Amino acid sequence: MARYLREKKTIRPLALNLAAPEGHGRQSGHRLKPASSSMNHPLLRRLVCGFALCALVVTAARSADPKVVPVRVSKHAWYVQGQAGPANRANQGYNSNAGFVVTGEGVVVIDALGTIPLGRAFLAAIRAITDKPIRRVIVTHYHADHFYGLAPFKQAGAEIWAHKGAREYLESGEGAARLDQRRRDLAPWVDDQTTLIPPDRWLEGDASFALGGLNFDLVYMGPAHAPDDLVVIVREDQVLYSGDILFSGRIPFVGNADTRRWLATMEKLIALGPKTMVPGHGAVSRDPVAELALTRDYLRHLRATMGKAVEDLLSFEEAYKNADWSRYARMPAFEAANRINAYGTYLLMERESLEKK
Ligand SMILES: [Zn+2]
Repeated sequence: MARYLREKKTIRPLALNLAAPEGHGRQSGHRLKPASSSMNHPLLRRLVCGFALCALVVTAARSADPKVVPVRVSKHAWYVQGQAGPANRANQGYNSNAGFVVTGEGVVVIDALGTIPLGRAFLAAIRAITDKPIRRVIVTHYHADHFYGLAPFKQAGAEIWAHKGAREYLESGEGAARLDQRRRDLAPWVDDQTTLIPPDRWLEGDASFALGGLNFDLVYMGPAHAPDDLVVIVREDQVLYSGDILFSGRIPFVGNADTRRWLATMEKLIALGPKTMVPGHGAVSRDPVAELALTRDYLRHLRATMGKAVEDLLSFEEAYKNADWSRYARMPAFEAANRINAYGTYLLMERESLEKK
């Protein structure tokens, strides 16, 4: 641009052109006419078009809700699968799964995804399959990627159910801190319109209900991955929505979860013997036991390596460096989650070793 102007000394900078002719201020009531001559210049026209095009693309990107495609897993049950790895701008926060079950008297939804645009797209995808009313949303656990999309379902008249263990997350400030972080990292999809919507019904523990000819069992599995872990079983279809008790095809997010309880929960899940399992992240599993094995083995490996390090009085850095991660290193979310998981487990093993004393 500068080189071009140096050669063609004839053109004046754009801003000046829109100024009032010499000596005419706004107070004189003269209407300001844009200097049409410079707009005819081909370079300027191309620049203006370029800017307009960029603005158009950005607005379109913002306004276009992400694509959410339901997959049928049984006669009445469906799920939608988020992308592997952590939520980020590239996937517009679509990294988790959700599901819905169509009964004769309405739809039961399991989780609502991680942003309002995702919740809206999910609701639209359900509407494309059935016009039955959305009766209930069961939140498997109050983690950002599973409930930030609740607002469209609430507006559609759905009742929200969750386990009382979520109260702490919503009322302790942890939820608010996470929302701030997501508003920073997932803007514009998570913005000031996104709020922490509490459930209409807090569950004390396990619960069951019948709707439209189907029976639903809600089994409390927490505190494992989260304080409020709930799994949802559609009895007639032998389908189990596991929430984040199970991550298939990627490294689970452990953080400071109680892995001892989580492992015990795994055994309970296997005992339920579901035919089909929809995990919180990753593909549906027609062989849940094999899928469970991956998450179970990873949790065991974390506890074994960090537990040994604590026994040997090694620092976390030494423990992490010495540990063999080869089996998991190439899995999705390893880079993002493994170090946090190991550190959370190291602190947990320290606490457990103090308990033993
Ligand atoms: Zn989670």
